[in-house]
Amino acid sequence: MTPVNTRRGIGMTSARTRERLLQQLRDEGIHDERVLQALRDVPRHLFIDEALASRAYENTALPIGYGQTISQPYIVARMTEALLAGGRLHRVLEIGTGSGYQAAVLAGLVDEVYTVERLEPLMKQGRKRLRELGYRNVHVKLSAVGIGWPQHAPYDGILVAAAPVELPAALLEQLAPGGFLVAPVGGPAMQELRLVRRTEEGFTHERLELVNFVPLILDN
Ligand code: SAH
Repeated sequence: MTPVNTRRGIGMTSARTRERLLQQLRDEGIHDERVLQALRDVPRHLFIDEALASRAYENTALPIGYGQTISQPYIVARMTEALLAGGRLHRVLEIGTGSGYQAAVLAGLVDEVYTVERLEPLMKQGRKRLRELGYRNVHVKLSAVGIGWPQHAPYDGILVAAAPVELPAALLEQLAPGGFLVAPVGGPAMQELRLVRRTEEGFTHERLELVNFVPLILDN
């Protein structure tokens, strides 16, 4: 039988291209097998526009409309690995649902994912997509007032998928003692990826590497 490109232009080549991506992630220093398995499990081609689906397993960020991007797989893996380094997490908050891809990766690794998005069309599309793909432990909300989702706080992990110039105190407050937050911090074009830990006394900060994210918008 001739391999046909079935749903959304991916079809039978996807297993091979996905494995190639996983090897690239390993080569770039991702070693947590749980994280690699989660990236293997999530069909990234279903989180982007059909026209870009053939590039879904390249290690690159891609546009998702409204001036936003689905993060590079390496960055998704790196942030997820950093967040999970302290052990299993139960409740994780993500800022910036975007396509829903990062939330889907987290869904396989933690009990409940709460994710907020400030752009309504992306929020609705992300919620629908996650529901249709069967990610029942992901809860999606429009971020209309303030930052995060305080009603479900505290979280033992927070992942920020857009860059604030400084970490908002109102977001740090939603982190449980012993919890980890991973976020890009800085101005446009380049930020440092930070791992923040909340201790009984306060917060410790660790710098991981330089990254390039869309800005976190705090206009409400
Ligand atoms: N995690 C996404 C990528 C998100 S890109 C994925 O896997 O596809 C960053 C997203 O953060 C954008 O969609 C942007 O609209 C959103 N964003 C920016 N500021 C925000 C805020 N204050 N609250 C919630 N979402 C925000």
